[in-house]
Amino acid sequence: MGHKNVEEIPVLIVGGGIVGLSAGLFLHRHRVPFILIERNQDASPLPRARGFSARTLELFRSVGLQESIEAVARTAWKQGKFGGARRGVSLLASESLPLADITKLHALADPSPCELTACPQTIVEPVLRNALAERGGDVRFGWELLRFEQRDEYVTATVRDSAGMERTINASFVFAADGGRSEIRRCLGIDRHGIEPNRHYLNIFFEADLTQQVGGRTFSQCEVSNEHVSGLFLAMNNTTQWSFHLTYDRASEEPEKWPDERLVRLVKAAIGADVAVKIHASSPWNTRVRVADRYRQGKIFLMGDAAHVMPAWGGFNANTGIADAHNLAWKIARVLKGEDSSSLLGTYETERRPVAIRNGEQAWLRTDFDARFQIRSDDNAVFFDRLTDYGELQMRYRYGVNDTVDMLCAQPGTRFPHAWIEHKGQRRSTLDLFGTSFTSMIGPAATRPDTEVVYRAGIDFRFVDEAVTWNSLTGLPDDSALSIRPDGFVVFLVAA
Ligand SMILES: Cc1cc2nc3c(=O)[nH]c(=O)nc-3n(C[C@H](O)[C@H](O)[C@H](O)COP(=O)(O)OP(=O)(O)OC[C@H]3O[C@@H](n4cnc5c(N)ncnc54)[C@H](O)[C@@H]3O)c2cc1C
Repeated sequence: MGHKNVEEIPVLIVGGGIVGLSAGLFLHRHRVPFILIERNQDASPLPRARGFSARTLELFRSVGLQESIEAVARTAWKQGKFGGARRGVSLLASESLPLADITKLHALADPSPCELTACPQTIVEPVLRNALAERGGDVRFGWELLRFEQRDEYVTATVRDSAGMERTINASFVFAADGGRSEIRRCLGIDRHGIEPNRHYLNIFFEADLTQQVGGRTFSQCEVSNEHVSGLFLAMNNTTQWSFHLTYDRASEEPEKWPDERLVRLVKAAIGADVAVKIHASSPWNTRVRVADRYRQGKIFLMGDAAHVMPAWGGFNANTGIADAHNLAWKIARVLKGEDSSSLLGTYETERRPVAIRNGEQAWLRTDFDARFQIRSDDNAVFFDRLTDYGELQMRYRYGVNDTVDMLCAQPGTRFPHAWIEHKGQRRSTLDLFGTSFTSMIGPAATRPDTEVVYRAGIDFRFVDEAVTWNSLTGLPDDSALSIRPDGFVVFLVAA
């Protein structure tokens, strides 16, 4: 170890937001030691993401946290449920939008052992942090990265600990999960490109008891516009916690400098009633899309908002970032264990960057309120047909050729399809068979490959639904065999 203030670690994660915490959990599953440092003592109180896709829940399921997250999600909504859109001159005078198409889209969602789970990020992050603490993860809140230097063998990071003392951490790899303003990305000189913003907002997190006012007419989003204010309410618990996204003109206004009294007046004008309003926090954001030109420099990898920022619409950003961490964790594990060459790490950028570019454009198109809810209007007619189904974006992307598929059917580069199976006397998902090593999935008549982990359909597991067969699930003949990566993606067809 050398100097008492020098530590050595395979992976240093910088940033304890939702992506850094997820990365810690995924590395832990692969038994890769890491240190996670987060400059703040506590998680950000600002409500941001509220929708975690079925795919993200699958990733949390893979580290045993699906039930914990679903449990806290059940406590999140104090009345009514999550969902629904309204519009009007004020929240009180708003009317519900017809959302029939959304229902149709959900009915077409891909089979999964999980569902889209609505829960504020502020509630999900503590679940991840507590799980890491219980599992012995080395998570250090109140620690800040000050500077770093890449050397041949490792990255030398100079950090300030929670007592204000400077220390050195030598890490074989660094995960930069340090958010949209990533200092690491800037220091590496990695530029970003994307789409210019078409709206600027101040995210105002406030408390106001609107239990009576919204009772029986709860919503996910409510767009308001009147002579005093325009913006959007996002529900946080359907009773007392809300965020109002105030629309403003960036060229002439700086609402982040306005006193709370002014913000309170605007929020009341948007509600349409003189109720007690307490501001908790506020923060500006805009609808720009920015994707880093490179996701990697040497031993340092960008992920989450450090790699891509996109508008909140559609709920893509955190979900994309968590999937980044999942994609990289198993690759780092294999390279550290000597099971693969470091060239595997190059696939992180080639696989994940196109997903961010696609999701960013789709989020940007959803700046139009109607488009966000799949409602065609005169304003969005010109681009409406470019909107891609949410499930396709979150679940049906194909690595390698970088497109999406109509249906998950074990195509190389896609996530292996889910089906309920009986395995060792338990009801499980096909996805539960994957995790820490490459796995062979083979049809009932296939020759058993000479690999460590092999599951033969009908022998090593049975489909719960008798209508499901190897052929109906994969579209492949019974003598075919597939190789599946630890993250559940199909590598290639072994034989057919
Ligand atoms: C209004 C709004 C609504 C949103 N809704 C959704 C949604 O519905 N679905 C969705 O998927 N996404 C949504 N998002 C986006 C989502 O919130 C972000 O994508 C997500 O928080 C990014 O997580 P992250 O961990 O990459 O970055 P952050 O949450 O920004 O975390 C980065 C962390 O790094 C720390 N850090 C930075 N520098 C250092 C340093 N030098 N040393 C130590 N620590 C450091 C920071 O303190 C911070 O805690 C929304 C965003 C907004 C603004």
